Amino acid sequence: MKISLSEAVTALRQAQHVVITAHINPDGDAIGSSLGLMHALTSLGKECRVYIDDDLREIFRVLPGFDVIQRPDKEQPAPIEGADLLVVLDTTLDRTGRIHKLCTAPVLNIDHHVTNDAQAERAYVDGSRAACAEIVCEIVRELGVPFAGHKELAMCLYTGLATDTGFFSFSNTTAHTMHTAADLLAAGVQPNVISEALEKRPFDDVQSLAKALNRIELWHDGRAAGVFLDCTQMAELTHTEGLIDMVRVIDGTDVAVVMKEKEAGKIRVSMRSTGLDVAAICKQFGGGGHVRAAGCGFKDVPFAEARQRLLAALDTALDSYQPTNPTKTA
Ligand code: AMP
Ligand code: MN
Ligand code: MN
Repeated sequence: MKISLSEAVTALRQAQHVVITAHINPDGDAIGSSLGLMHALTSLGKECRVYIDDDLREIFRVLPGFDVIQRPDKEQPAPIEGADLLVVLDTTLDRTGRIHKLCTAPVLNIDHHVTNDAQAERAYVDGSRAACAEIVCEIVRELGVPFAGHKELAMCLYTGLATDTGFFSFSNTTAHTMHTAADLLAAGVQPNVISEALEKRPFDDVQSLAKALNRIELWHDGRAAGVFLDCTQMAELTHTEGLIDMVRVIDGTDVAVVMKEKEAGKIRVSMRSTGLDVAAICKQFGGGGHVRAAGCGFKDVPFAEARQRLLAALDTALDSYQPTNPTKTA
């Protein structure tokens, strides 16, 4: 059920033992929002635990509190007990891995994805915000926790804002986003400390990206670009994070796709566009996201078949899409 910002704030104020979680395959917004909210609630004297049911990329170690994030045991996950509120950030409940099953506390869902259909008991969804962290900033203020004097909190929430906006360059960046970021900087965040930590990659990973980029394909008269990596090709690579950002820059393309089979039968898809509604395409396959950045997954579908189904949906969408602002510069 949809609730208001003040109702979300009241739920947080009333809780004393809070479990915070976010989506699997966690990004800077998922981790930053979770840790930012944790710092705020802890400063109010509440007991707070953060669980994310996935591997965390080491680059996010720059975020204060990174080490407190827990992951349930892979084989024998213990129930997460003693909580009076489960806060689910930056996603719907179904992408929290096993957390929403292991923690049976009442749920408060806070999200900025337009595809969030507010199925949680209580959901505050604002699709106009660039990042979940932007909403958490509003909540933290309403809770009466100032950014000033809370640099740890500010670093986490700034990371959420910066990563979901492509460091304040994507179309989701608003004046409100920038004002919020400015307030976080005033609390002591050094933007270069965050960006330098997040962009660092081992040599092998850069080589892996180069290998993956070699497989880039163009189709639909050059309006679509993609990299498709089945599990054999993935096994040759150490790392492919950020690949989509290199694919989406190709001149003349309306849509970019990266499809990865991390292990046999487990496929993840990332899509980006210049205006075509990729959230709607991903929704056809059980995924979602934003108009210009979305994702979905395929489970137990052969790679070739998943690819063919995705390409068919893309072709249909592209056939009926007229770019209002063609990106081809040449
Ligand atoms: P990504 O390509 O993983 O960076 O995701 C792009 C956007 O789509 C992010 O806002 C994600 O939260 C969202 N997204 C990615 N995968 C899914 C999925 N399977 N279901 C719903 N939303 C997704
Ligand atoms: Mn996210
Ligand atoms: Mn987000």
